[in-house]
Amino acid sequence: MRKKIIFGNWKMNGTNTEVKAFLKLVDKKVKNTDVVAGLGLPFTALQTGVKKAKNVKIAAENVHFHQNGAYTGEVSIAMLQEIGVGYVIIGHSERREMFNETDQSVNAKAIALLANNMTPIICCGETLATKEAGNTVKFVNAQIKAAYKTISKEDAVKTIIAYEPIWAIGTGKTATAQDAQDVCKAIRQNLAKIYDKPTAEQMIIQYGGSVKPANIKELMEQQDIDGALVGGASLVAEDYIALINYNN
Ligand code: 13P
Repeated sequence: MRKKIIFGNWKMNGTNTEVKAFLKLVDKKVKNTDVVAGLGLPFTALQTGVKKAKNVKIAAENVHFHQNGAYTGEVSIAMLQEIGVGYVIIGHSERREMFNETDQSVNAKAIALLANNMTPIICCGETLATKEAGNTVKFVNAQIKAAYKTISKEDAVKTIIAYEPIWAIGTGKTATAQDAQDVCKAIRQNLAKIYDKPTAEQMIIQYGGSVKPANIKELMEQQDIDGALVGGASLVAEDYIALINYNN
């Protein structure tokens, strides 16, 4: 049985003061042992997050793939590990669209994270134009193939995939549970081709895009959806608590 992994992604939100106050409210509310609850935070709030969270896992929202060097403004894996961060969101569509994240850099980041025993949360997802052209599965499969290039199946099962259709992010337009299921199933079939069926069956595939307390249950009931990556709704403590306890 795959566990449900539900992470918030705070994007460029959250001062240390805000993160501290939020975790004081939510950390003790992780009751659902079938769910792994987590939170993606900006670099500056990570250390506070790790210190204040006993139950909530803390994720960075980006990392550089080089170990160190002349990369002004970047943060390395060792820097995240030193403060106890175990997860990193990579390839988010906002980083692909605005900050030159490419399939190649996502692959390099995944390889570097796995080599350091950290968990990459690898984002993929199509634009509205790609969806309307009927190319969603082809596009997402190509992103996944590129992200997992040279990654062994033993390492692949340690990763998390987040399928986030770009047209559903921050728009209030959630993919229907059936649409999200269809794409997540197609991703799993693609993973079975890249690796093998038992490997694909073990892998966690989250859905992201306007997930909220009102729609999480139906999404989580889908066979190939193993969790969620939540933006806006994860900023509100009451909603975050409802999300991680959706089946209580
Ligand atoms: P929203 O939940 O605000 O649509 O954002 C989704 C997202 O981008 C999570 O990474």
